[in-house]
Amino acid sequence: TVPDVMDAPIPTGKASAPADTKSAHLPRLHLIDEQQKFSQELSTYINEKWTLKDAGFNYNVAAVFGSQSTGKSTLLNRLFGTSFDVMNETARQQTTKGIWMSQGKDMKVLIMDVEGTDGRERGEDQDFERKSALFSVATSEVLIVNLWEHQVGLYNGANMGLLKTVFEVNLQLFGGNRGKEKTLLLFVIRDHVGATPLINLSNTLRADLERIWHGLSKPEGLEDCQITDYFDFMFTTLAHKLLQPDKFNSDVDQLRLRFTEASDPNYVFQPQYSKRVPADGLHIYAGGIWDKIMTNKDLDLPTQQELLAQYRCDEIANSAFIVFQEKIKEFRQPIESGSIVEDLGPKMKDIRGVAMKSFDKDASRYHADVYQRKRSEVLTKANTMLEAYFLGQLKNLHKKAVNSFSANLQQALRQEGAEFSVVVAASKKDVMDSFLEGAKAITLEETEWSYEEELYQLEQGLREFATAQREKELNKMLTSLEKHLRKELDEPVGLALNNPGPGMWGRVIVIYQRTVEDGEVLLHKRARTFDLTEQEQAELVVNLRRQAWVLLTKKVQEESVDGMMLLKLRNRFEEKFRYDEHGLPRVWKPDDDIDTPFRKARDETVELVPLFAKINTLDPVKGENFELEPAEDFDFDQSLKVLSETRQQEITTKFKRESDAFYLEAKRSVVATQAK
Ligand code: GDP
Ligand code: MG
Repeated sequence: TVPDVMDAPIPTGKASAPADTKSAHLPRLHLIDEQQKFSQELSTYINEKWTLKDAGFNYNVAAVFGSQSTGKSTLLNRLFGTSFDVMNETARQQTTKGIWMSQGKDMKVLIMDVEGTDGRERGEDQDFERKSALFSVATSEVLIVNLWEHQVGLYNGANMGLLKTVFEVNLQLFGGNRGKEKTLLLFVIRDHVGATPLINLSNTLRADLERIWHGLSKPEGLEDCQITDYFDFMFTTLAHKLLQPDKFNSDVDQLRLRFTEASDPNYVFQPQYSKRVPADGLHIYAGGIWDKIMTNKDLDLPTQQELLAQYRCDEIANSAFIVFQEKIKEFRQPIESGSIVEDLGPKMKDIRGVAMKSFDKDASRYHADVYQRKRSEVLTKANTMLEAYFLGQLKNLHKKAVNSFSANLQQALRQEGAEFSVVVAASKKDVMDSFLEGAKAITLEETEWSYEEELYQLEQGLREFATAQREKELNKMLTSLEKHLRKELDEPVGLALNNPGPGMWGRVIVIYQRTVEDGEVLLHKRARTFDLTEQEQAELVVNLRRQAWVLLTKKVQEESVDGMMLLKLRNRFEEKFRYDEHGLPRVWKPDDDIDTPFRKARDETVELVPLFAKINTLDPVKGENFELEPAEDFDFDQSLKVLSETRQQEITTKFKRESDAFYLEAKRSVVATQAK
């Protein structure tokens, strides 16, 4: 044979020679190596070296089977533009055992070149043959069975042994899924010289396949199952590559259409062959299957698909969450610092939507139940993460409501004639409405979030606040009333007491009554503002009277301290003694009697002291004694006492001593006049 230069683009001398250096070809991957280890790089190849990262279901898998050196790799390279090792004619070295995988050039097809599956012929390693058959059947939609024309009809040949293995493992995998999970076997008969037409060859093969099928021991319950329950068949021939190179080439071109043209009547990748593994999950799925095969565990594809779905859904969810968390981060600072984030609701909805969409996009391809379950987990988790912001914003809305409620109250109460209850009701409605609006705007659908509790708390809070505020405002009002009372009392009482005499207390009582009446008028005016009840008003009036009285007695006490008393007495005495009845200063003459007027003035002045002993409560207008109810820490009778007996005595004595000075002064003035 002539060395096939065209088909030996890859140096095969060294098994591990990196084939991916040839840029025209997509890199191939030693998916399962000689040591039967599954490559860790499948996902890298799918995502980076090949173009299947986002292929989803939009890709297909095919594998080739057949005896060693039947031109399998050659065919694949021709059909798919791959770069699988081809036996070098001159060296006649066996290519690396294992399973190679590559993407077809410009095709969303993954092809597996299964090497060393003719162990039977070489009497070795039937174990790997079985394993690789299991693996290929579990992962591929189409198995290309490659054989020489002269192998057709050799029932006991290596191919038949291989096919028996394929059938067995297929039954093992899909037995229960009769008629649902099918695999296509595409027989490619090589070096077809044309003497025997394809139809005859295929009939021979079909008959052989049926015989093998019948010879299989079927699992329980599937004794009568048909080969066609699990397999579809296709047969084709290729011309002799060396003898009819042009025909060979055109045959290959024709055959390629079956893999690339969905409209081709012989298109191989029919939906019923799909293993429904999205491209981004193939590495997990295929790896898991190989692991099962290697550990000799029951290979159960539905379980594999579920495991794959769980694993991938978690992965997909995680990467969606990375984006999600990054986006929601922006809310933390403003919300924690008490701000209300504008459009938080739509923003959260949007971010959650993006996350769910990105999850759905990839995860929805996986096992439906698992996907649905994971989806609701993802939603719950997203909601939980967002709920912190929902609650934070609610809290801030609450705070804002209280603040504007307080501001509204302050402002409204400053207005004349404002009615507290009306103001409270209006303001409350205002802030509750805007709280509700804000709360509704951030309550997302598909959550169990509720703002009812916060709303209730707010209502309660506002009510308590209003009560406290009313109390405060009322106290403010009472304080200013007290100021007013003091102003009205102090001066007139002072005047009355500075002009002591029999009517003094009567005047004080009149001042008191007038002040209290004024106060009551003011109180009743403000009663409306604070919604005072009759009883509250009555109580306030009683307080007002007592308060005014206390103020009054304080004033009286101030006016009757020693100094003040002496001042009053001195004034009175001077009036009597130093001035005449016309109010003119007296000038003493030598003959004047000083002693008598002195004594008279002094006696009359001293008589005033007992007047200050006790407040006389006779109301001169009403003609009756004025009285106040005693209360806790208020004793009306006690409040009437001004000067004790002792103090009267002391003051009198002090005054008398002081008046002596006036007497002496008068005497001296006479002496002085005489001396002139
Ligand atoms: P594989 O072991 O089945 O993958 O076979 P290879 O593709 O490595 O080819 C084995 C040998 O068969 C190589 O020397 C090829 O040149 C040769 N070969 C490839 N295709 C054909 C063919 O269609 N007819 C013949 N007669 N030889 C071929
Ligand atoms: Mg090969």
